[in-house]
Amino acid sequence: MLHSGHCHCGRLTASFETQKTPRELGVRACQCEFCRRHGAVNVSDPAGKVVINAAEADIARYRFALRTADFLICKHCGVYIAAVIGEGDQIFSTLNVAGLRMNEFLEIEEQPMRYGAEDENARVDRRRLKWTPTRFIDAALSASFFGPHQ
Ligand SMILES: [Zn+2]
Repeated sequence: MLHSGHCHCGRLTASFETQKTPRELGVRACQCEFCRRHGAVNVSDPAGKVVINAAEADIARYRFALRTADFLICKHCGVYIAAVIGEGDQIFSTLNVAGLRMNEFLEIEEQPMRYGAEDENARVDRRRLKWTPTRFIDAALSASFFGPHQ
């Protein structure tokens, strides 16, 4: 199944390919302050594929707490669309399906998640295992996530 969505103004778009149904994947509501302020609900599939199409100039990258991921926010409409991590030459993301208005996921009961007890290694390991392999159409944006994580 191919799902697609975009931020409010439409400058940031994402597509998500998965063999699983929304119900099989489940929808997670991270309970951290940032996610709750945005009303974020997230979906990922380690066997799936995400493609993000956006220009670097339209994206604000926000880091907080352990600073291990970039939260991508549209500079124009302020919608948070995805959290992204780069590991070597691989990129992984979790999509905020509420921000992207992927409505087929929004009918499912959210599972509240609390990750606050993780240390940095546990956090990076979880994301590598659970998040979706991701590609950016914009080559410069892609390249900015490659290399050792910092
Ligand atoms: Zn936007």
